[in-house]
Amino acid sequence: MSNKNIRALSERKGLNDNLFENISELSLKDVVKEEFHELADRFHLDDSVVLGTSSFYDFLKPENRNKKVYVCDGTACMTSGTQKSLIKGLEKHINADEIGHAACLGRCHSNSAFMFNDKTYSAKKKEQLNQIFSKKEYSQEKKYQTGCNTTPVLTSPIDDLNDFYALAEEFTNKPQQIIDELKTSNLRGRGGAGFPYWIKLYTVIKEKADQKYIVCNADEGDPGAYSDMYLMEHQPHKVLFGMYISGKCVGADTGVLYIRGEYPDSIRTIRKAIKELTSSKLINDFNFKIIRGQGAYVCGEETALLNSIEGLRPEVRVRPPYPAQEGLYGKPTVLSNVETFANIHWILKNSGKAYEDLGTKNSTGTKLVSLDSFFKEPGIYEIEMGTPLDSVLNDFGGGFTSEVKALQIGGPLGGIVPVEKIKDLTLDFESLHNNGFLLGHAGFVCIPKDFPMIRFIEHLMKFTADESCGKCYPCRIGSFRGYEMIKKARYDDYKIDRQLFNDLLETLEFGSLCALGGGVPLPVKNALQYFEEELKAFFK
Ligand code: SF4
Repeated sequence: MSNKNIRALSERKGLNDNLFENISELSLKDVVKEEFHELADRFHLDDSVVLGTSSFYDFLKPENRNKKVYVCDGTACMTSGTQKSLIKGLEKHINADEIGHAACLGRCHSNSAFMFNDKTYSAKKKEQLNQIFSKKEYSQEKKYQTGCNTTPVLTSPIDDLNDFYALAEEFTNKPQQIIDELKTSNLRGRGGAGFPYWIKLYTVIKEKADQKYIVCNADEGDPGAYSDMYLMEHQPHKVLFGMYISGKCVGADTGVLYIRGEYPDSIRTIRKAIKELTSSKLINDFNFKIIRGQGAYVCGEETALLNSIEGLRPEVRVRPPYPAQEGLYGKPTVLSNVETFANIHWILKNSGKAYEDLGTKNSTGTKLVSLDSFFKEPGIYEIEMGTPLDSVLNDFGGGFTSEVKALQIGGPLGGIVPVEKIKDLTLDFESLHNNGFLLGHAGFVCIPKDFPMIRFIEHLMKFTADESCGKCYPCRIGSFRGYEMIKKARYDDYKIDRQLFNDLLETLEFGSLCALGGGVPLPVKNALQYFEEELKAFFK
């Protein structure tokens, strides 16, 4: 069946009888094949569609269903070296075969992270595990810090919810005014791509359609980043307001939040905030829907995310058409990231000009950064764009707890910045890019001095191979070949042909359809450039 046909059949049941939620529910219940067949039948789909989707996601795969505990496999937990002893400790409470694995759980500030009974924990000591498994009330001993070095846009508290939402009335039936303010503010997408937000609204307004959607990408899959988690759990109304006013601007009456399953607390907090909104009637003619992700990094890519909501395998779509033209169920869709939506209230309240005055010419406003546990003060900090990186890491992070040789900034596809380069950089899109790195979603993962760089790049290639959606050959095959080469060089009597490896990186970079395959060469090249001495033993 073509994706177009599947999409149309999925749309007939819509968001209320959502195909993906149905598939997830059956998979998690580990039902027999006949029940999947009945579901496929009800949607007039082939069984292969339903089973194909079910087999894609980490939490839904047969081998990972019904595990009692999911141990975090994220980069920060790996570099901190906490997970082996955590697993040993867990095995005192549950059987080894009841332990599964999950992608980054967003507990990079503390590590030793795992998920149990739909809650995430960090537990370094056996007493903590005893308490968690004894079902006693357990309070996390260490919380992460928050702070801000400028006018707080994202981290300021909301004093009065009625006043907060009253702002929407000022902009009712004034789409052009909303667009003008956002254009002046030069708000760029905070998910990593940095695309001007107002253009999305403008494009969707121009599209003629009976139904339009707002979709919030809350699938914060970059290991090391937990800023969207912070916003959902501590500033949910800033996110919801941004979606609501965007809907009013473009004529959409439905907002979908696609929240990753690794953030169960975020799902609960957003659900509670939506209830609060509807019961107090602070918004009108607008519905929110939460879709829970089931563990797939590629769903952070906007078109894969749309396919996921529709119940298709989350393979990346070829663009154009862009989501603003043909998005959810083929309808014009404003799709943006949590942090982007969270900026909108402040801009409309204080003016686009006031926002533009913050930051640099091309990177306006503030950015949330996530610091991991190698910092003395790990946490979420709201930093004005253009701030020297050194100040972020020392004035807020408090410096490192032990010797660090590099930082990976901006997720697994972000650059590897050697510590000696920190002094040359400022926190904004241009500075990182012009120096051969990436701001991305501004998660900071430290690579300690004694952590082998070959192991780090092996992890990146394996991550890409594991998370590749399989749509294009350069990524599907190339990432796996890259992983194989590095692994062989690490464990066997084998040296990597540098020319062959360079060709592979070039093929990935220029031949891949999306940023996963196309992005992984950047950190690998950074590692080869800045850690040549350390890595040369593995190359011919
Ligand atoms: S680059 Fe990888 S994740 Fe992206 S479309 Fe190609 S196979 Fe899929």
